[in-house]
Amino acid sequence: MSEVIAAISTPLVSSGIGVIRISGENSFAVADAVFRSASGKKIAEISGYQALYGRIFDKNGEVDEVVALKFTAPHSFTGENVVEFSCHGSVYILKRALAALLQSGARLAKAGEFTRRAFENGKMDLSAAESVMQLIGAESSLEHAAAISGREGVLYRRIGEIRDRLVTLAGHLSAWVDFPDEDVPEVDENELLDGLQFAKNELSRLLSDFENGRILREGIDTVIVGKPNVGKSTFMNLLCGSERSIVTDVAGTTRDIVEESVTVGGVKLRLSDTAGLHDTDDKVEKIGVNMARSRIETASLILAVFDGSCPLDEDDLALISSLDGKKAVAIINKCDLESQINTNLVAENIPFVVSVSAKTGDGADKIGKAVAERVGADSIDPSAGILTTERQRDCVLRAENAVTEGEAALTAGLTFDAVGVMLDEAIAALCELSGERVSETIVDEVFSSFCVGK
Ligand code: GDP
Repeated sequence: MSEVIAAISTPLVSSGIGVIRISGENSFAVADAVFRSASGKKIAEISGYQALYGRIFDKNGEVDEVVALKFTAPHSFTGENVVEFSCHGSVYILKRALAALLQSGARLAKAGEFTRRAFENGKMDLSAAESVMQLIGAESSLEHAAAISGREGVLYRRIGEIRDRLVTLAGHLSAWVDFPDEDVPEVDENELLDGLQFAKNELSRLLSDFENGRILREGIDTVIVGKPNVGKSTFMNLLCGSERSIVTDVAGTTRDIVEESVTVGGVKLRLSDTAGLHDTDDKVEKIGVNMARSRIETASLILAVFDGSCPLDEDDLALISSLDGKKAVAIINKCDLESQINTNLVAENIPFVVSVSAKTGDGADKIGKAVAERVGADSIDPSAGILTTERQRDCVLRAENAVTEGEAALTAGLTFDAVGVMLDEAIAALCELSGERVSETIVDEVFSSFCVGK
């Protein structure tokens, strides 16, 4: 019988509601030991998917007024009997209610243990469990869509199709190799080659999508550049709007680069605003300017800001030429003022141009589309099932290597035995991806990155 585990599943901050989740065969009895409903009914008595209003008590008296929600196995998140108490979202109350449950027979859940049980009870495969983690952390619409499709098993099915084809081939091969005297039909070399090539193409596609998908997970390293006073800071504030998130100062610099993470056009941008780009003798400023220059070299996306109310000058032209061959979007700012800029000249060098007024917000709605197009995010289809973790990528890479070697062995005229070994290796790697054949250590590692309560 599974132990009853309990944890606070919502963040430990004061909030409207806080949820404590309890899972395990005996969870109704454990919950009933601390809970008294207003109607007098026990959680164990009511049917699943019903709620009871009541109070939680510990040995010192009443802890909180709560709603208990009952889920019966196997139709719950973990696949076990589950109770969720919605309490008032006070950290003190939640901790005290949890302590009462631990007193009455539950054990504190480890990080990711609820999701781990869901995996172990066959509610989801390992890649879907990883998607749960991604879902919690989703910061953009693309990331969200990728996580949902992962959670729904799209990746699992895509991998399953490749694996099944390899399994059929491997079965056929080993029957033929192991029982040469029986009446096993001869292995058709072309069929074998077709299967290996199909697997190789599919796996390579998954790997290249993973590289594109990096921008979903990690966001795009973006820098805002332009000469002083064109409106970089104002533009940065426009982008950040109310979505202002983590602000970090890059350490070790005199004139700091400010970093923010924002979502534009469904894509997460990790933005930094740098010191203005122009020649300067000021020592401190020079450090900032040099840093801005080196950021142009390393950034994945450059938002180059120009003042549309002035003609282009030498600093602007120098910036334009330094962006040659880089992924850039030109932002012609101050469109609320009379235009003096040669937009065509900008557009000839930087094909993605957006006119905005950082001050009034005019044109802000066009930035997302330009950014998404520029970085290729508009061509990613997150609902097609993509690899989302390094672990998944590693499995697919090993499978791809194995089928490539298998193909080489076949064309080099090696024995079917050698091909069979490679097939087995590819199948093993794919089974590891879905968690069907995976070591405890790897499972431990996947769930250790989860938070407690999930
Ligand atoms: P930075 O040096 O490039 O960071 O430029 P700032 O953001 O500090 O802006 C320089 C000046 O331009 C400030 O006085 C801003 O108010 C002004 N400014 C910025 N954006 C606009 C805009 O879209 N329209 C107008 N009219 N003024 C702007």
